[in-house]
Amino acid sequence: MELPFAESWKIKMVEPIRKSTREEREKWLAEANYNVFQLAADHVYIDCLTDSGTGAMSDRQWAALMMGDESYAGSRSFYELRDVICRLTGFSYVIPTHQGRAAENVLFSALIKEGDVAPGNSHFDTTKGHIESRKAVALDCTVDEAKNTQLEVPFKGNVDIKKLEAALEKDADKIPFIIVTITNNTAGGQPVSMQNLRDVRRVADKYNKRVIFDSARFAENAYFIKTREEGYADKSIKEITREMFDLADGMTMSAKKDGIVNMGGFIATRHEDWYEAAKKFCIPFEGYLTYGGMNGRDMAALAVGLDENTEFDNLDTRIKQVQFLASLLDEYGIPYQRPAGGHAIFVDANKILSNVPKEEFPAQTLTIELYREAGIRGCEIGYILADRDPITRENRFGGLDLLRLCIARRVYTDNHMRVIAAALKNVYDRRNEITRGVEIVWEAPLMRHFTVKLRPLG
Ligand SMILES: *Cc1c(COP(=O)(O)O)cnc(C)c1O
Repeated sequence: MELPFAESWKIKMVEPIRKSTREEREKWLAEANYNVFQLAADHVYIDCLTDSGTGAMSDRQWAALMMGDESYAGSRSFYELRDVICRLTGFSYVIPTHQGRAAENVLFSALIKEGDVAPGNSHFDTTKGHIESRKAVALDCTVDEAKNTQLEVPFKGNVDIKKLEAALEKDADKIPFIIVTITNNTAGGQPVSMQNLRDVRRVADKYNKRVIFDSARFAENAYFIKTREEGYADKSIKEITREMFDLADGMTMSAKKDGIVNMGGFIATRHEDWYEAAKKFCIPFEGYLTYGGMNGRDMAALAVGLDENTEFDNLDTRIKQVQFLASLLDEYGIPYQRPAGGHAIFVDANKILSNVPKEEFPAQTLTIELYREAGIRGCEIGYILADRDPITRENRFGGLDLLRLCIARRVYTDNHMRVIAAALKNVYDRRNEITRGVEIVWEAPLMRHFTVKLRPLG
């Protein structure tokens, strides 16, 4: 008989987690004002809030941590990190930063000025923030397919090349770079194909523009190219990674995702002029050039993490786990953004809690119900996160209203996935009894989801 699929690692250290009672959760929810960001992590049984900085390091990474060189200048750990990045991407100029948004802050300080336009595929919220705060425009050129949650296409994260060309034709002189996010986080961890990256490069070359990859999940993107795109089945993840970055001029990286460290990031580029320009901002914002925002030991662990997570087996274990959870939801008929992305499942709350009016935030209501049911913490990616329109101050109900369930790397087992799916099914089975949602009692003017205070209705 064919042997079943299993994880490509075994477990050397464990961290106990604790279940709670419904009464306890009811009390904690009220204390948190029905906002799961306000819950103590100790009050969470299975935490699917984010896959950022929540992964488990390997024995090799922990060993590297002990070997870290904390020298202020010229740290050996920096050179180790730089060499791995250069080998994977071909970029020889590297600036470490404390996380991904810091890489954006440093690089964009050098590249973006007021009135600029930075086209890309669904810019991540901090990326967008760092563009817009410089009074520039983050122009979204994602393919339209990404908006339809039920459409099953392999590369839903792609850039729409027609939209990109139109932007370049109109505003070429205002465009400092094109930015492609791999995988496309905002569209649900959806990958970008090699063909699409090649097409972006062709358009960029035509207009003499440079291309940046926002690379937080570049290894997961390479996995999807290998498993879904014609001609890549026999290539290694490292070969595919190199081929992707050969199509870019530079990258920003949140190492908390595919670097499998708990904190860190970097900028890398092949261009000396970009490096020289970014250097000036690294020193005052982050730190000296050979550590930026990172400890020596964290750079050492990141160098190992990048090397490990560009191996097929590690990625296969991770992505298959996300797909396993998706298959359970399929079995129970629970709708989510299809196909499952690399790092999370996005449950379509509007389709489930169809009795809850949008003014009462169905996805937030579903997030609360899932926690109430089993102590599982997801996160609303919907109408609360969308904030109010800056001019009319009305809520924005135009987009999707989703419950995101992120899966941490190498942290939970498939049995935890079964618990998540079963808890969601229990909520799903009583969906018609859930007719009321929540109302906002207090909110911040921007990024309100982190601190919003809510009250349950009915
Ligand atoms: C997480 C993330 C960032 C920001 O990185 P931080 O490390 O959280 O600051 C930028 N872009 C993408 C696509 C991300 O997923």
